[in-house]
Amino acid sequence: MKFIKCREVAPRLKGRVAIIGAGPAGLTAAGFLICEGVEVDVYDMLPEAGGLLLFGIPEFRIPKKGVREGVKELSEKGVYFHLGKKVHDSEVFDVDFSEIVENYDATLIATGAWEPRRLNVEGEELDGIFHAAPYIVKYYLTKFGYSPPSSLPGLGSSVAVIGAGLTAVDSALLALEIGVKEVSLVYRRTRREAPAGEKELKMLEEKGVKIVELKAPVGFKGEDGRVRQMVTMDVKLGPPDKSGRPSPVPVPGSEKVFEVDSVIVATGGRSTPPFKKNADKIHVAEDGRIIVDDKRRTSWKGVFAAGDVESGPSLIGPALKSGLIAAESIKEYLIKRV
Ligand SMILES: Cc1cc2nc3c(=O)[nH]c(=O)nc-3n(C[C@H](O)[C@H](O)[C@H](O)COP(=O)(O)OP(=O)(O)OC[C@H]3O[C@@H](n4cnc5c(N)ncnc54)[C@H](O)[C@@H]3O)c2cc1C
Repeated sequence: MKFIKCREVAPRLKGRVAIIGAGPAGLTAAGFLICEGVEVDVYDMLPEAGGLLLFGIPEFRIPKKGVREGVKELSEKGVYFHLGKKVHDSEVFDVDFSEIVENYDATLIATGAWEPRRLNVEGEELDGIFHAAPYIVKYYLTKFGYSPPSSLPGLGSSVAVIGAGLTAVDSALLALEIGVKEVSLVYRRTRREAPAGEKELKMLEEKGVKIVELKAPVGFKGEDGRVRQMVTMDVKLGPPDKSGRPSPVPVPGSEKVFEVDSVIVATGGRSTPPFKKNADKIHVAEDGRIIVDDKRRTSWKGVFAAGDVESGPSLIGPALKSGLIAAESIKEYLIKRV
């Protein structure tokens, strides 16, 4: 995967830029800026660059070899990667966010949307209930040999995956790969509304995954702290909601109980900016997204944001485009500063 397209004679721009997050948004920006002659340092909390391209999306969609080649090319051009370094200002961190902003001429935040969106139902804290993205990242950390296999919790023999987007599809595939015998995808609308699309759902069915439509989990019951049952309610479709899709309306008295060994919640994530204390300097929307203008400038001069951290959970294409817009905007900012 190419993150870099340098012109024959690139103008030599002066400046040092820090990029926090080595997913598609951060890597594209790094590729653009290194070609302009800027010094680029990329910080990422994972042991390898690539973000969800490497640690989230399955091989058949995004071959890992191509991502690794793209990252290698960036390194060879001079991009410096600080890996295994979490940047923050209040949680446990390795590098302080404010120090980065102070020490570089410009900073790009490209930290994605990694906070799981909770279902907010009873029993969600039980062992055996996993949020998709963190579980999938853990899976790849063990697969690539960065963590011991014992660090990946087992799923048992029956798993319910909640949701019907690409993350849910990938969670179901992962469960099959791990050896789970019964995998169901539970969705609160019909397959016609599923964000993953009919083709992906058919592919799952061909592999033995059961698609359960018009059911929403309303609670989980456990034994000795571990989930054993999922309680669902039937849903019927109502008038369109904010997303434009029919709203799921619960049918009173329709509760049903399913025996499960594990549950993977794949109902989306929240943007994860690398700061809490600095939220007064960088405006953040209620849903966690960093607020940017059309040039991906935040409210803190010299600080930019791109990808899922400013758009909310999205797709690779928009993240690449956002990273490029931010990089062009950083170039403009560095030229004006001189
Ligand atoms: C399981 C799954 C499957 C998906 N499948 C598809 C698909 O098939 N097609 C598609 O188009 N999209 C898919 N998506 C969505 C797509 O992966 C994202 O939209 C895209 O990766 C966003 O790019 P990004 O650069 O903004 O963030 P990310 O790819 O999330 O990268 C963010 C990077 O920031 C790092 N980071 C986060 N916080 C910190 C911190 N505090 N300090 C240092 N580093 C930090 C992370 O380690 C990560 O490397 C999928 C998402 C998931 C979760």
